[in-house]
This record gives sequence, C-alpha cells and structure tokens, in this order.
Amino acid sequence: MSGQIFDRVALIGIGLIGSSLARVLRRDAPGTVIVACARRAETLAAVRRLGIADETTDDPAVAVRDADLVVVATPLSAYSEVGRRIAPVLRDGAIVTDVGSVKGAAIEALRPVLPNRVHFVPGHPVAGTEHSGPEAGFAELFHDRWCILTPLPETDPEAVAKVARLWEGAGMRVAMMAADHHDKVLAVTSHLPHLIAYTIVGTATELGQDLQSEVVAYSAGGFRDFTRIAASDPVMWRDIFLSNREAVLELLQRFSEDLTALQRAIRRGDGETLYNWFDHTRAIRRSIIEAKQA
Ligand code: NAP
Repeated sequence: MSGQIFDRVALIGIGLIGSSLARVLRRDAPGTVIVACARRAETLAAVRRLGIADETTDDPAVAVRDADLVVVATPLSAYSEVGRRIAPVLRDGAIVTDVGSVKGAAIEALRPVLPNRVHFVPGHPVAGTEHSGPEAGFAELFHDRWCILTPLPETDPEAVAKVARLWEGAGMRVAMMAADHHDKVLAVTSHLPHLIAYTIVGTATELGQDLQSEVVAYSAGGFRDFTRIAASDPVMWRDIFLSNREAVLELLQRFSEDLTALQRAIRRGDGETLYNWFDHTRAIRRSIIEAKQA
C-alpha cells in the first residue's frame, strides 16, 4: 500500500477477509490504528495473539468510534444488526465499506440505516479460500485479484477513490459495477460453481459404504477439486444463496437446460456435440490463465 490513507480503521468481523486486510495494513501502513471486532472471545484472543490489531472489542459500536474507515466483514446475515448498532456512533464523514459477496443484499441491509453524514462504498474483494477465521488470513490473499466496488448514486467520488486506493494497495485491480450486475456476474463465476460442488460432494456421501471409500481413494480424478470448494464456510454460503436468490435461480434454470442437452448427447451417442462443447470450455480455461486469474 502506498502510504497511509486512514488513521483509524475498524474491522467489524475479523475472519479470513478482515484479518487479511489487517495484515496488509500492518505491513504497509503501520501508523494506522486497527480496531478488530468479533463476537467470540476465542476469535478476539486469536487476533491479539497474531498481533494484527491494536484494539479488540465484541461491541461494533465501540469499535467504530472515531474510525475514519469502517469495514464490515461479517457474514451477510449479520449486516442489518451491525448497521443498526454502528449507525448512531459513526464519526461525521467516516467511510463505511464492506466486503460482502452479494452487493444487492449488502446495500439493502446497510443503506437504510446509515446516516447521511457518512459515505457508504459497497465493495467485494473477489479473493478467498475455503478457510475461515483470523488464523486463515494472509496479506497476499488479494494479490492480482479483482475488487469490485458498487457505489451508489449518492456516494461521494472521493470516498470511492480512497477505498479503491486501499484495495489497489493490497495488490488488487479495482472495477466499478452496478450492484445488480455484480450479483449476476458472481452468480455465474462463483455462486453456481459452489452450488454444483456442494451437490456433487453431497451426492457422493449418499453412496454405499464400498463406493464411498473408493471415491476418497481415487478423488484425484476430479472429485478432489470439488471437495475443496465444498469445504467453504457453511454460514457464508447459506447467506450467499439466500441473498442472491433471483440471479442464482435464473442461472440454475439455464444450467439444467444445458445439462439436459449434454445428457441427450450422451444418450444418443452424439460425440460431435460433446466434443464441441468441451473444446469450447477448454478455450475458456486458456483465457482465464492468460488473464492471470487461474
Ligand atoms: P469468516 O472467516 O467466517 O469471519 C467472519 C467474521 O465475522 C468473524 O470474525 C466472526 O466473529 C464475525 N461475525 C460472524 N457473525 C457475526 C455477527 N452476527 N455479528 C458480528 N460479527 C460476526 O468470514 P470471511 O470468509 O472473512 O467472510 C466475511 C465476509 O466476506 C462475508 O460477507 C463474505 O460474503 C465475504 N467474502 C468472503 C470471501 C471468502 O472466500 N471467504 C471472499 C470475498 C468476500 P466470530 O469469530 O466471533 O464469530
């Protein structure tokens, strides 16, 4: 990060994402005071042990006092409650941003409760792993990944620019998008793939005992990659599907139509359809590698 942008940063939620940002701030802006907020005493004890915050509290209203940047980094289902608790005590002119994976729902929860005297910059650093909690974080998590900001018509451009600088400093490329467009794009690139992984891994566990042990032994055939995705945090993913319901359901409809087409091709011995489909998807993998997002 090129220099210090904020004096006092409150991280409401200090799991994988919050703690990774804390590590970036520690590394690049040692003058910034970091206040970490979580519910559980074990989480706050871990934060102190890791030395990634100057102050810890379980009270969001205490955490945000005097902060010039507040980053909401809890699961989406906690947003309304967090917003309600921080709203009365936010400093005038403070910037409130978030990292939630569904922007429509994040805005719906926070926008109505935040006072006009603060700047709300909804955001989503598109970077993650299947691990959770402050121990799982690392400063390089954001490197070379995209951060999508979805500013509102009333959002002050200077506040947006400051949040963009924060993520650029963490090594991210920043894009601007409307919230509903973000939610459609992420339904394709993240939400549906997770749903498919959860389904496949769940189906495999329903198999008979013999087959199940063989699935584990020979998992390198493709199944293993799904198990990594399906090991992602259940609370976070429950919240994502409930929050991005429309976009995910619409996409699932398309997906099942395509699945039916491939099913028909297999049944009919239609190798040409299968080959063309797989050849096309292989080209997509190549373009992801070229874009350095593999
Ligand atoms: P995480 O590792 O599970 O950490 C969540 C943090 O939020 C913990 O510190 C937890 O505190 C706190 N928290 C949970 N419920 C709370 C509540 N009701 N009130 C106050 N604090 C609460 O989660 P994460 O992976 O960092 O994800 C956080 C956010 O980032 C989510 O909104 C998610 O959509 C978004 N995101 C995640 C990823 C990813 O791949 N993980 C990527 C991009 C964006 P306790 O430990 O005390 O419960």
